[in-house]
Amino acid sequence: MFTKRSAFFLCLFWHDLMSAVLEIDLDAIADNWRDLATRHGGPTAGVIKADGYGLGALKVAPKLWAAGCRHFFVAHLSEAVAVRGVIPDSMLAVLNGILPGEESAFAAYGIVPVVGSLAELALWRAYAALSKCVLPVIVHVDTGMARLGLSPAELTRLRGDEAAFDGLDVLYVMTHLVSADRAGDPMNGFQVVRFNDACRQFPRVPRSFANSSGLFLGPVFGSDLARPGAASYGVNPVPGQANPMRPVVRLSAPILQVREIEAGETVGYEGAWTAARRSRIATLGVGYADGYLRALSNKAIAYFNGEPVPLVGRVSMDLTTFDVTDVPAGVGDWLELINGLHGVDELALAAGTNGYEILTSLGRRYQRRYSGVL
Ligand SMILES: *Cc1c(COP(=O)(O)O)cnc(C)c1O
Repeated sequence: MFTKRSAFFLCLFWHDLMSAVLEIDLDAIADNWRDLATRHGGPTAGVIKADGYGLGALKVAPKLWAAGCRHFFVAHLSEAVAVRGVIPDSMLAVLNGILPGEESAFAAYGIVPVVGSLAELALWRAYAALSKCVLPVIVHVDTGMARLGLSPAELTRLRGDEAAFDGLDVLYVMTHLVSADRAGDPMNGFQVVRFNDACRQFPRVPRSFANSSGLFLGPVFGSDLARPGAASYGVNPVPGQANPMRPVVRLSAPILQVREIEAGETVGYEGAWTAARRSRIATLGVGYADGYLRALSNKAIAYFNGEPVPLVGRVSMDLTTFDVTDVPAGVGDWLELINGLHGVDELALAAGTNGYEILTSLGRRYQRRYSGVL
């Protein structure tokens, strides 16, 4: 008889059989963060914006907290509110700053705005006056990114305003590197000079400078609080050199079908790949709707038992095809799309993007299996 119970087990079974599995190693994230904190040699934040770079902020944040992290950055107020409860007694700051109407939520949840314009500064100062509280703030200065942050002209205007920081406790002055992953870019040195200039206006206020790659640029990029994100999640902070970080994610998917095609036949949309010989084609239920980017068409590889197999044809929305002619892979066998040999950086290279985009695109249809959950 078909009962609720059998439906439950059938669902479990189907789920296991059909759907790709994304394994996320929280212990590796904690190890990577500790490694970065040791390199920095001082307070080191955890950057957990975009749902912890796509890996689950509510899982990552407590893990970093247990590793000793007490400073956290997200991009949006809503992201901060979502994690506030799992990281007690910690600084939690919003990189994108504060908008009119958000002041009471920042204050109520004890969230720190990173202010990047005179208007934001005025907004937060007015709320401090209204609530008769001293409120924490981080001041973002622009040293070359030209997105957020006080410009040199705005800093000059601030100098004339004695009351600019009344009621505010400036926790850090911060800036963000433009080209930290390119050690030879002269922009890095320019930003050190501009940041030092700007910081003179804030004597005795601690500084926050390096992101992941910035921690590998040398001691002049050191500051009081480092802000690494990507490297904690296994992205290589030193492109072109061996990745010093532990891999964090592994993505594998079962083969749904294997079919034989003759030389001259094509595979997938637009016939974007033509078999040069009689070939065995394996189809996986993973596509660009899962963040397995369409730009990977005819470019990526997967692994079967340690052997590389090429992606052939277009990545479609829900399906991708691999040439398994040279390996004994059959229906129900698993291919690894991301693993220790072929990580997020290698996949990014094939797609013409970076590891950040690969991670933050990882789909919601994967079965997510965490190890090291607290
Ligand atoms: C995202 C971000 C970081 C972290 O950068 P990674 O390159 O991921 O280490 C640090 N600071 C700011 C301002 C950011 O936006």
